Amino acid sequence: MQSEPISAWRTHEWKVRTLESIVAGGGSRLGFTCRGCGKTFNHNTINRRTWAVDTQGVALTDDVTARWLKSECLHHPILADDDDRKQIKYPTGTAAQS
Ligand SMILES: [Zn+2]
Repeated sequence: MQSEPISAWRTHEWKVRTLESIVAGGGSRLGFTCRGCGKTFNHNTINRRTWAVDTQGVALTDDVTARWLKSECLHHPILADDDDRKQIKYPTGTAAQS
């Protein structure tokens, strides 16, 4: 994810909170919520991985993550984001994330 343009990320008004201070392997898991468009991401400090999550903090598909990281903030919630939030990466019934 390091190759994603950081400029789009900076257009959002992030509200950051610590979800877990220590995760497996060390580091923290942070939750990012945009005050403008309502997009939500989780971020692991140890490996600098960032991924899109729904309002419950459930991971969304890599496709949604890549798209959201490239999206500049429109400063209001977007209807299309609601559809993206249905694209759960690990739907119930499939193998759980290790
Ligand atoms: Zn935003």
